[in-house]
Amino acid sequence: MVNLYRKRLREYAMSLLVFTALAVIITATYFHQIQALLPIAALLLALRIFLTSTDANVRRLSGILSFCFGASTLSNVSWYLVPAMVSGGFVDTAEYYYVTGMFWLIGYVAISYVLLKMKNSRQWYIDRSLDRLITAIAVIGFLLVALLVFPNLRWDSPNVIDILILLVYLCLDIVILTLTLKLVYMDLKSDLKRLVHAIMLFFGINMLGDLLFECRWLFGLSSMVSFNIIGAEWTLNIRNTTDLIYEVSLLLMTGYLFFCVIDPFRSHALDDARRRLKDTRLFVDDLVAKSPDATCICGRDGRLLVVNDSFLRTFGLERKAISNSCNLFGYMSQIISDEGISGQISGVSNGETVIIPRIRISNIKGGRKGDFYINLKMFPTLGANGRIINYVLIIEDITERVLAEEALRESEEKFRALTDLAPVAICILQDGRFMYANSAMEAISGYSKEDLSSISFLEMVHPDALNYIQGRYDEWLAGDGNGEFRSVLKGIRKDGDVCWIDLSRKNIDYQGRPAILITGIDITDRRYAEEALRESEEKFRSLVENINDMVWETDADGKCTYASPKTRDIMGYEPGELLGKTPFDFMIPEDAERISGAFRQFRALQAPFGLLEYTIIRKDGSHATLETNGVPMFHQDGRFKGYRGINRDVTERVRLEKELIDAYHSLKEEYRRKTDFTNAAAHELRTPLTPIIGYTEILKSEIADERHRKYLEIIERNAIRQKNMVNRMLELASLDAGMATVNRTEFPLRPLVNEVADNYRTVNPDIRVDVPEGLRVTTDADAIRHILDNLVSNAVKYSSNGGPVEIRVAEEADRYRFSVKDRGTGIPREEWDRIFERFYLVGGDKDNRTGGRIGLGLALVKAYVNLIGGTVWLESEPGQGSTFYFTVPKEKQPAGEAANVL
Ligand code: ADP
Repeated sequence: MVNLYRKRLREYAMSLLVFTALAVIITATYFHQIQALLPIAALLLALRIFLTSTDANVRRLSGILSFCFGASTLSNVSWYLVPAMVSGGFVDTAEYYYVTGMFWLIGYVAISYVLLKMKNSRQWYIDRSLDRLITAIAVIGFLLVALLVFPNLRWDSPNVIDILILLVYLCLDIVILTLTLKLVYMDLKSDLKRLVHAIMLFFGINMLGDLLFECRWLFGLSSMVSFNIIGAEWTLNIRNTTDLIYEVSLLLMTGYLFFCVIDPFRSHALDDARRRLKDTRLFVDDLVAKSPDATCICGRDGRLLVVNDSFLRTFGLERKAISNSCNLFGYMSQIISDEGISGQISGVSNGETVIIPRIRISNIKGGRKGDFYINLKMFPTLGANGRIINYVLIIEDITERVLAEEALRESEEKFRALTDLAPVAICILQDGRFMYANSAMEAISGYSKEDLSSISFLEMVHPDALNYIQGRYDEWLAGDGNGEFRSVLKGIRKDGDVCWIDLSRKNIDYQGRPAILITGIDITDRRYAEEALRESEEKFRSLVENINDMVWETDADGKCTYASPKTRDIMGYEPGELLGKTPFDFMIPEDAERISGAFRQFRALQAPFGLLEYTIIRKDGSHATLETNGVPMFHQDGRFKGYRGINRDVTERVRLEKELIDAYHSLKEEYRRKTDFTNAAAHELRTPLTPIIGYTEILKSEIADERHRKYLEIIERNAIRQKNMVNRMLELASLDAGMATVNRTEFPLRPLVNEVADNYRTVNPDIRVDVPEGLRVTTDADAIRHILDNLVSNAVKYSSNGGPVEIRVAEEADRYRFSVKDRGTGIPREEWDRIFERFYLVGGDKDNRTGGRIGLGLALVKAYVNLIGGTVWLESEPGQGSTFYFTVPKEKQPAGEAANVL
């Protein structure tokens, strides 16, 4: 509405201006001052074009022209009209002249500028060779003008400034003509083209005037120049001619502008419109044909109008297979079997733009085989009245993209499956957040994938490591080098437990932005194991360094590879001094030979060894005795590595042992000497007893006096007791001296036992014998007899009430057990251990001793039992009686030393 109103206003203004221009021309003709008034008309017309045209370039050009003509009018009014009216003459002052000229010059430059802008506009196009040709003509024009002016210019001429200014005008004439000529060959709109024509016309003629003027000043011609041509005399008023030319140019231009405004040949515009329509049609056809997308246009009824090659290629069709009469909607529903999609497409008839992405099409009849994917866009084009004229269908073949996406999705699925199975934690970090995390990451961190997507990576870093990691994170992203990195990170699991992660990272692009791919192995257990190992190593080291023994290691050749600090105390050497040397290097020569021989044997067997004793020479030259134990060491692959062991300083112990042995030997010698003395003494004591007893016997039979006989009996009894005691002492002494030997024979036991029992039945008739019938034993029969004799003798002796005495022999697995039991006085418990000692009497009963008891019987029993390899013990209850046991081994035993009873 507003536009229409404006248009009306413009039309009115236009009419007014045209009439004004006409009035101006008529007035000018009336006053014969057309030169002065024409620019006014031209100005009005240019103004009118400026107002009516919608073309920016036309408006710009006509605006400039308005300015030029306005300036020209101003100067003309002051130059011609005012003086003509006031003084009836023409004012020809230099000032007026230059002011006017300056306005024109500005106008020239402005026109040149606008034309140049138009010429360089990307809206139009000129053939390149034509462009060059016109430029070449312009250059020739410049050269010709230069050739005309400069050779003929006299610098002392009063018009030199005028000549040079006019030269500028001439050059600008050429520039404007050249540009208009180029524009004429461009595809300008008719209004603009006409305006350009008008300018070309004006400046073409104007240039002739400028040339004439230039020649006049250059060659100093007077206003009137006479020519003699073919005998006739011609006179030319140059000044008037020039003015005429200018006037003609103005007149023509004004006329042409009038013509443009009135435009009597409307058909021009119609042709122009038709041509443009055709151009548009060709343009659209070209656009469709060259579009990379499959495009076709159909009429309102669906009839196919335009199909491009890309469309045919996409569907694999021949052009003839899809004729112009084909109905596009029908065809589309035929190839897209999905009814839903066909329905959507038909929605375009409601004026909607239909966009359907990713349609899958397979096996077109007579066309492309196999599956392919398209994006479909269909929209109607509307006419001026808003009705649908055509439908445009644009199809984008996205098969490659879809396949690539599918391949990508597949590979992504594979990647996910693979990473989910991996025992290593894998995650992608971007801006400190987890963009991806696999199952192992869940297991290690304790966080679920959902948890991980909402927490920051730094929340999982242990406070100890937080500062370090915060500082590094940006560096990681900056990607120094290739961005690969490995380290051990102290982290915190969801439950607050500390964990150790062996971390590797790599910078990657994730969804188009930098990210960090992290893999992590949980080494917490290993770390703790390492710590435990280190602790235990430290423990053992401190143990090794603090024990009194020296710990060492050798290689397979016996060369020392480690020696503990104790080396200093034991050997006097620094541990380092031993390295590379063998232990034999420090031994006294005879031991070095002996021990190295032994070592070679152990080495060959790779066997452990122990208690090797040898003497070394310490650093200070003193000797020390060491005792060595060693165990072999092996490499992981089972190869022999060397020995590890300890050296103990046994110098003191060896010295003590030696002293002890020496003491033992001297004691034994002493004892032997004493025994010899006792034996000799006993022999000497026994020797006089035999004649005493013998002669007492004789005297008894010869002396009748009862009293003397009694004395003799006392002498005889004491002598016999003394002899018995001496005999026993001698017997014991011979056992002690190891002179008694075991005489093993096999014999029946029962007769021997009965024989002993019979000896005492006269004193105690109740002696019972319980020996298995026919039992034969292999041992020393005399020893058995002596033992039984002593035990039965005691049993009878200490059974004053005459209770029964039982002698029993029982056969056991590997021995015979003898027992002699009485119902006598018994022996208190505290005496049991001591009664086997020599000369020991229960209760230290001296009276008893004088009563014939000497305390050697049980000592002899023990000595004999030891001799035959048995043991002796007793059980007793005071007042109830005693039982003495002794055993005889069935197999031959190493003879016990009788001296053990000492
Ligand atoms: P003696 O020659 O005095 O009998 P023994 O060595 O045979 O010496 O005995 C040591 C002591 O053991 C005896 O003095 C006696 O007190 C005690 N004794 C030994 N046998 C018996 C026994 N069967 N009953 C009680 N006491 C006994």
